Amino acid sequence: MKLRIGNGYDIHRLVSGRPLILGGQQLEHPAGLGLDGHSDADVVVHAIMDALLGALSLGDIGQYFPPDDPRWKGANSLELLEQVVALVQQRGWQVVNVDSVIVAERPKLRPHIEAMRAAIASHMALEPEQVGVKATTNERLGAEGREEGISCHAVALLQQP
Ligand code: MG
Repeated sequence: MKLRIGNGYDIHRLVSGRPLILGGQQLEHPAGLGLDGHSDADVVVHAIMDALLGALSLGDIGQYFPPDDPRWKGANSLELLEQVVALVQQRGWQVVNVDSVIVAERPKLRPHIEAMRAAIASHMALEPEQVGVKATTNERLGAEGREEGISCHAVALLQQP
């Protein structure tokens, strides 16, 4: 059996007047902030997509869904994720599991983690147990700590039977 591992990272700015969508869930930020971006700016799904592409050295999501392409304006990132998973499958690979960690001071993410895992898993044709989503604050340090943005790190393991 052949195995491949990939990692992904994304960060988007927190601004007012935008929805906060993480792991396909629309959340309420206590200061009314959301993530800025051309698509829905879901950093969790973006980091997972880059991990999948990275595992097969297929580049990054900017190549597939360029931010200056009007087709992806306001795009639902979970639908883009389906396209990336299809790309992986077309090349004869299966996803073993993905794991991710969201770096955000607020809001409290724990109540939403299970819904994020279920949404991501269903769009990847996986079981929720194959999708790790964790959250941490940045202890008020750095850009995430100052609530200038929210970031996410992800890894993906692929197998070719
Ligand atoms: Mg992004």
